[in-house]
Amino acid sequence: MAAAQPKVLVVEDEPSQREVLAYNLEAEGFEVARAGTGDDALLLVEEDIPDIILLDWMLPGVSGIEICRRLKTRPQTRTVPVIMLSARSEEVDRVRGLETGADDYVVKPFSVIELMARVRAQLRRTRPAAVGQQLEFSDILLDAETHKVSRDGKELKLGPTEFRLLTTFMEKPGRVWSREQLLDRVWGRDIYVDTRTVDVHIGRLRKALGIHGGEDPIRTVRGAGYALG
Ligand code: CA
Repeated sequence: MAAAQPKVLVVEDEPSQREVLAYNLEAEGFEVARAGTGDDALLLVEEDIPDIILLDWMLPGVSGIEICRRLKTRPQTRTVPVIMLSARSEEVDRVRGLETGADDYVVKPFSVIELMARVRAQLRRTRPAAVGQQLEFSDILLDAETHKVSRDGKELKLGPTEFRLLTTFMEKPGRVWSREQLLDRVWGRDIYVDTRTVDVHIGRLRKALGIHGGEDPIRTVRGAGYALG
């Protein structure tokens, strides 16, 4: 299950503030990675790209602004939402923060409830199923909250792995996923699973989706992987 949870990276040099953030995010069901410096943050992102980053502005060494700028210029991390956290409140700084490409900006001291709402707002855009949104693709409906899937109004029975696979596809229709990317997202990177396992579960998902007839919505992209639509 853990693999489908959104991964949040908290970059904050103040240990007590970092822990408060991590605690609240974990309570919301998110998987949390922590970094106390800009360099650690960049290393962690290199290892495992998170779904969203909470980034303190004032950090020892590489500043939050500089990290944000770097992340937003790399194709692999450009679309990862960044919420900047800062004690500065002047309008000019806010503008500078957003100009570096930050997706949102929160001034300290902030309300944790408000920050969590902003995190969910960003994820609604990039990981809709992870925050309980209903997904729709053609005649397929997926409800992440009730774990129900239907096609053309008829309920489908999916195993947990097939459900997570379909969720991943439906969050980004048309995107081609490599087997490795699917393993990472659906199974989690800590578990060793052979890439052929992906093919087995794609086969099961196709069968489940086609049980009442209808076209196969999953496309095999030779040499690349799979896509929905
Ligand atoms: Ca700081």
